[in-house]
Amino acid sequence: MKVAMCFMLTVSAAYGATVGAAPRPHAAVSVRTYNYAVVGIEQISEARSEAGHIFDGAGISLEWIECRVHSEGAGAACTEPLLVGRDLMLRLVDGRPSPGERVVALGESMLDHEQWGGVLMTIDVFAVRAVAERAATAVSTLLGRAIAHEIGHLLLGSAAHPRVGLMRPLWSHEELRGLKPAQWGFSSREAAKMRETLRQLTRTAN
Ligand SMILES: [Zn+2]
Repeated sequence: MKVAMCFMLTVSAAYGATVGAAPRPHAAVSVRTYNYAVVGIEQISEARSEAGHIFDGAGISLEWIECRVHSEGAGAACTEPLLVGRDLMLRLVDGRPSPGERVVALGESMLDHEQWGGVLMTIDVFAVRAVAERAATAVSTLLGRAIAHEIGHLLLGSAAHPRVGLMRPLWSHEELRGLKPAQWGFSSREAAKMRETLRQLTRTAN
């Protein structure tokens, strides 16, 4: 059984290795999180640590902002305009299984290929929980990796899935269990591309 990491949505008409030594983080991305799936604080904190660790290895630091999902709920209002090259949006939703569905997608990203990439990603926490249970792996670890994968699509501005590394399209249960070697990070080329994208966008925005 393998798990499809994500479906890709494109919103524009024009569709346009090896992990190296970890550089010092010098680019930062802020992730506005909308926790519609009501993932527990501890689990979401561990997932953020996992995603943060992956991006540390790519020289990018992640910051997290908890955004309010109900008018009376906790979290920030998150009404400020998104800063280009700085702010992303993460929706954690509780999807429902389709009868007879054999391939489970954990997330999706919305890419605009006329722009620099995209800002919105969605993770199906129901699918993450189901896959984690079947693969006998921690929900928080899988959730963190799924989030990092989707952020990767947004920062790389690409729906491409290479054969190895975090951006590969299918994750097997053996890999998730740690029974089969797998890379859960970005290649040095992917990391360099994401840092360069952020540098350019920040320069343009300023
Ligand atoms: Zn993907």
